[in-house]
Amino acid sequence: MLLTARYVLPISEPFIENGAILVRDDKIVEVGHATDLKVRHPEEPVKDFGLAALMPGFIDVHTHLEYSAMRGLVHDAPYAAWKMAVAQKEPFFTSQDWDDSALLGGLEAVASGITTIADITSSGASGHAAQAIGLRGVIYREVGTMDRHMVDEAMRKAEQDIEAWRATVDSDRLSIGIAPNSLYTCNPTILDRIAEYAMDGTSVALHLAGSMEEYQFIKYGSSPFSVHNVELGAGYGIDMPPWLPTGESPVRYILNRHLLDVPNVLAIHCVHVNDADIEKLAERDVAIAYCPRCNAKLSMGVAPVSKFLTAGIRVGLGTDSPAASDSMDMIDEMRIGLLLQRAVGDKRNFLDTDQMVYMATLGGARCLRIEDKVGSLEPGKLADIIAIDLSASHQAPTHYPNSAIGHTANQDNILMTMVSGKILFDGNLCYEVDAERVQARAEEMRLKLRY
Ligand SMILES: [Zn+2]
Repeated sequence: MLLTARYVLPISEPFIENGAILVRDDKIVEVGHATDLKVRHPEEPVKDFGLAALMPGFIDVHTHLEYSAMRGLVHDAPYAAWKMAVAQKEPFFTSQDWDDSALLGGLEAVASGITTIADITSSGASGHAAQAIGLRGVIYREVGTMDRHMVDEAMRKAEQDIEAWRATVDSDRLSIGIAPNSLYTCNPTILDRIAEYAMDGTSVALHLAGSMEEYQFIKYGSSPFSVHNVELGAGYGIDMPPWLPTGESPVRYILNRHLLDVPNVLAIHCVHVNDADIEKLAERDVAIAYCPRCNAKLSMGVAPVSKFLTAGIRVGLGTDSPAASDSMDMIDEMRIGLLLQRAVGDKRNFLDTDQMVYMATLGGARCLRIEDKVGSLEPGKLADIIAIDLSASHQAPTHYPNSAIGHTANQDNILMTMVSGKILFDGNLCYEVDAERVQARAEEMRLKLRY
């Protein structure tokens, strides 16, 4: 099939005006000017998107699909209050609820042009949803306990799940990694165990230096989480001694626990990092998920993205939990991420829309170490392709596609989402999942959770 549009954005090369992509089976065969490709392949069926941009699918490097049904549940609250309020609602979810909630997120993802997710899950529901819907991704099994005596058991269960999940997913599309819980809910010894376990190359993702509360907890032992942990421990009869302040920044703390020694680490947020921390992250080739909407909405701060890029760190974009950021709109994420940096970031490094589009595609692929397969439109790569409409009145006239995408589009402008040559969305959702049932379940879950 020949896909054509006013703009084709290979990402690895400058954009092509009136471009085309030849897709055969699950692969990209050729990328070039539409007139040339039509002459070379006269028999090939053509699907034209008109005044639109064809580009690689978005790679959302930080998601929690299973929290989608908690969208808007705890609103207008800063990080620590939000986190604790969401945690109080979690026990009310059954495994069916987690599954349907993740499906809701998966449906939104494909309709928003996301073709790859990097998702942290405790229940495994995100993996089930990605498998059913046809998304590509890395699914990280979350594990953690503050109780030192529970560490062996927690790791045993996590390892068991990872093995079982690996056996059930389509390994061409999905791989399974491991993720520690938030650092303020992890006994230091479980971090050592995760580091040991992931030395074989298993992907690791961890929330790191996101909030000031986490920073203060790790360094000084003083934050709302200290009180919360002690209360929680007493409530469950868990042996949870008061946290011993480390005197270190969160980055330095996990460095000392050898978590940065594992080969494939994705650190999420990295808002509260100093220059020495950034140097260590760069030295260990740690990738960073920049989640500007979640960070802004929960008043966590703004990550020093320019410093990451200057240090040569791989940076991708993440929409994070819908329970925090409400939608999985990667274009909103790009725009807010860009504007925040211009408003309060390093003025010597003026971030532009080319960099944001790169971050949302090839940059994300590099974070997950899958850039040999996806992230750009190149012959031989898998056909993970999206089309974004640029023809609306608020977008006319379009001079430069990256700027038009970054400043005038949003998730509603996605015309088509394709993973491995298979169209998953073309204005309608094109697969077996019953979207109406999932929406109805979301309403049921809302009623259950609202008190
Ligand atoms: Zn997160």
